[in-house]
Amino acid sequence: MTANWQEHVSLKPYNTFGIDVRARYFVQAHDDDEVRRALSLASERQLPVLVIGGGSNLLLTRDIDALVLHMASRGRRLLGDDGERVVVEAQAGEPWHAFVQWSLDQGLCGLENLSLIPGTVGAAPMQNVGAYGVEIKDVFAGLTALDRETGELRDFSLAECAFAYRDSVFKRNPGRWLILRVRFALSRSLQAHLDYGPVRQRLLEQGIEQPTAKAISEAICSIRREKLPDPAELGNAGSFFKNPVVPVAVAERIREQFPGVVAYPQADGQVKLAAGWLIEQAGWKGYREGDAGVHRLQSLVLVNYGQASGAQLHALAQRIQADILERFGVALEMEPNLY
Ligand code: FAD
Ligand code: NAP
Repeated sequence: MTANWQEHVSLKPYNTFGIDVRARYFVQAHDDDEVRRALSLASERQLPVLVIGGGSNLLLTRDIDALVLHMASRGRRLLGDDGERVVVEAQAGEPWHAFVQWSLDQGLCGLENLSLIPGTVGAAPMQNVGAYGVEIKDVFAGLTALDRETGELRDFSLAECAFAYRDSVFKRNPGRWLILRVRFALSRSLQAHLDYGPVRQRLLEQGIEQPTAKAISEAICSIRREKLPDPAELGNAGSFFKNPVVPVAVAERIREQFPGVVAYPQADGQVKLAAGWLIEQAGWKGYREGDAGVHRLQSLVLVNYGQASGAQLHALAQRIQADILERFGVALEMEPNLY
């Protein structure tokens, strides 16, 4: 064991589901050197490594017999400014929402729709975080990652990240890339995205027709606070399933039987179904089994009422998946990363 490694650490404070499993070893990395040192010592000892940020997209189903490396690097800076387009960079361990607020305080636009997403900057590219019609790919300017196979640093361009709906090259190659810092191309003038969900309506209710980026951020924060459970009060990992994207024929077949199905045509000709609607329709909203449950307001969110284990939440998720497959012929894919 090295000086700053801890042993048998409870991960309860480090995952937003609040699941009480233990890490065999645990270390925080505040900069590149600490990351490299931890990886090289783990490699010498042939220990697997699990990198975590805010733990808001994890389902931990067992003790982690590995080194858990918690990204705690901080820092954000302006890299370039042509008067309109401004490139900013943030270290992986920066809390995402604080970074969004900082960018808005600098008078920069582009991240406002992504307000109040938990977690860290470094994990955001993993699943190309998205909300209210914006994904980080829309403002992405590059990132620097450490190749855990070779120890080399590599800069990734937008194309090289292969971002897709809740997906990226990093998610498809688990454990290969450790993201150290991320760059974003933001703007001094606002291109507002208000046509998603109740955003425009919320602003109009406040008498705002020409919102600023900060006003959009505040509206989105208020909508999110009403609809989503706060992990500090009720353990959860946000949306537990991805919205399934299906061929038109499948969506039409479902619509014949369920005319109210919530479905959005996609640019590629397929149709995105609202997984939350399917789950609610199947009667799972508010369902509770011991301390594992489906949130009473948002059926896409599984919750831990206190003492649920990751295995119990996983078992509930599998039952929901089987039920949705049987009722609608649609396979739901889990969004959080399962360990
Ligand atoms: P973690 O949960 O710590 O890690 C997630 C994955 O990334 C793991 O596989 C981990 O190994 C890996 N990882 C973490 N850091 C790094 C790194 N530096 N380099 C390489 N790999 C790394 N997501 C959305 O897309 N949109 C939303 O609107 C949204 N809303 C949410 C609301 C709530 C209430 C909650 C609880 C979650 C929500 N999420 C949302 C999911 C989650 O917040 C995001 O996916 C977030 O980016 C995860 O960040 P994290 O630091 O917590 O990652
Ligand atoms: P919502 O507004 O009730 O909408 C339900 C679903 O319909 C969403 O999943 C959204 O898909 C889709 N949708 C809504 N308007 C759409 C439009 N104009 N065009 C295409 N699709 C549309 O959703 P919500 O649960 O309150 O969440 C609001 C936003 O925050 C969503 O973008 C959601 O993805 C995001 N969010 C994500 C997480 C997470 O953990 N991943 C957690 C909470 C909220 P999309 O999900 O594809 O956007």
